[in-house]
Amino acid sequence: MKILLANPRGFCAGVYMAIDVVDQLLEICPNEKIYVFHEIVHNRHVVQRFQQRGVVFVESIDEVPNGAIVVFSAHGVSPAIRLEAKAKNLAAIDATCPLVTKVHAEAIRYARKGFQILLVGHRHHQEVVGTLGEAPAAMQVVESPADIPNLVIHDAEKLVYLTQTTLSLDDATIVIKALKAAFPAIKEPPVSDICYATTNRQLAVRAIAPQCDLVLVVGSANSSNSVRLTEISINCGTPARLIDDCSEMDPAWFVGVETLLVTAGASAPEDLVHDLIEQLVRDFGAEVEQHDVCHEEVEFGLPGTLKTMMRSRNIDPSDRRIVRGDEGEQLREWFAKHEIPFRIVDLTVAGVTPKN
Ligand code: SF4
Repeated sequence: MKILLANPRGFCAGVYMAIDVVDQLLEICPNEKIYVFHEIVHNRHVVQRFQQRGVVFVESIDEVPNGAIVVFSAHGVSPAIRLEAKAKNLAAIDATCPLVTKVHAEAIRYARKGFQILLVGHRHHQEVVGTLGEAPAAMQVVESPADIPNLVIHDAEKLVYLTQTTLSLDDATIVIKALKAAFPAIKEPPVSDICYATTNRQLAVRAIAPQCDLVLVVGSANSSNSVRLTEISINCGTPARLIDDCSEMDPAWFVGVETLLVTAGASAPEDLVHDLIEQLVRDFGAEVEQHDVCHEEVEFGLPGTLKTMMRSRNIDPSDRRIVRGDEGEQLREWFAKHEIPFRIVDLTVAGVTPKN
């Protein structure tokens, strides 16, 4: 069997930042309970690992004691949640991904200008719930073209659409085309709201999956961008399985599989991908090639709320910048240590690194 590893895969800049926020809090507040509103990122292993270190995940601000530390997850929260936290005098640390905050800011700006906003996304996803909360009277959610006839539009000349950051590019294109057909004057966001990480992981699957017999996506079932990767693969004609980790693999899936693509959603830790490869190499004698479709250089600094808390505790935030290290080098070292033959195939268009 040949394993093709998609690059990019796994953690994005927003997930690195959100996880780092909780890591830093555990370090600087060793004697205080850290509460996180909603899963910090949508990954079962990430959440369980933090739970094992004492972090408490809550789905309601009521569950957080007055005056405690609460972290808002990478998906963002609505202003109503911020107000609830303020009313309880919580030390709120905002780990919302800046690319989600950008969509919130667009919603606020268009609502102030008197626009109606059509938010393309999944109605119950945490990110959509948070964005919707910025201007509930001005916004309606559109999940598919079937929702369009039910929209209540006051002035088709004052309409804009925004999107959830983690949509499938294919699905979003279908919905946006239908919106443009129904409302030709609809405005679009200045820059696509679908983030660079979602775009790049989908591009990689679209580029590599057609040459494969099966695609394995490491990620959790509630991770929007992980689910989208399986859908993209299936749209390309290649069957795909979404798994939390290698323990969920079934040997029957690999009968007749000569080329396997392995990728991971933006919230899935890389060590889970390593475990998977180790097991596949053990069971099938697989050889491994990483196919680089593009390189990412996006990084986010610590959120302002965390820096403020650090300063209030006489900790200099400038010493605590997130340092990710050379991931390419770390990967080579891992393969060398495990004596697994490995090579990189560079499929990038020289110098092109998609960014938000
Ligand atoms: S998937 Fe995109 S929007 Fe979500 S945390 Fe990552 S970079 Fe931010």
